[in-house]
Amino acid sequence: MPHSLVLNASYEPLCVVSVRRALILVLNNKATCLEESGSILHSATTEIPVPSVIRLTRFVRIPFRGQVPLTRRALFARDGGRCVYCGGAATSVDHVIPRSRGGQHTWENVVSACRRCNHVKSDRYIAELGWRMHRKPAQPSGLAWRIIGTGFRDPRWEPYLAPYGAEEYGFGRTDHQHQHQHQNRHMDRHAERHTDHSGRFADFQDHDEYGTYDQAASA
Ligand SMILES: [Zn+2]
Repeated sequence: MPHSLVLNASYEPLCVVSVRRALILVLNNKATCLEESGSILHSATTEIPVPSVIRLTRFVRIPFRGQVPLTRRALFARDGGRCVYCGGAATSVDHVIPRSRGGQHTWENVVSACRRCNHVKSDRYIAELGWRMHRKPAQPSGLAWRIIGTGFRDPRWEPYLAPYGAEEYGFGRTDHQHQHQHQNRHMDRHAERHTDHSGRFADFQDHDEYGTYDQAASA
């Protein structure tokens, strides 16, 4: 089942919700549909276009969130689903400075890597191997990250995310690269269920529960 992008009344990207949740928001006039997914939901009496992008009718204040949770899915999203060393499809998490040599499990020291590079690198520094990375790993930032960090993507969302720093994370890649993203997301799904903060985003239902959403966003 596809997911829907939720924008604030101000058009800022907020979160990703299930299509079912998006439909409930639209049907209860809590949100309007900006982009349809192209598929139709049939009920006994009516047909409803499935929303791909919705915009809340009321502005929701989201508190500043300093720390971005470091999950496998979010890390793969930051690195575009590619091995930072060879550019192949990422399947594992590597510590740039090996943990055995004091490396921390932080955004600045973890990267996505393919199994082969991870194995070859083992507990060595990349300088010892003559390897290099195209850019220094860093904690993601920008409002678009709220969406990209979930690992869900849809080409229809791109125009709404581009003004908020989406391109920095490879949003708007070719279809070929998208396929890798989907593969990785699929493999990740079970492992991330317990730690993925985006799951909690999907739980808010109507404006009475925005308090829950606020707590999730600031957690
Ligand atoms: Zn590699």
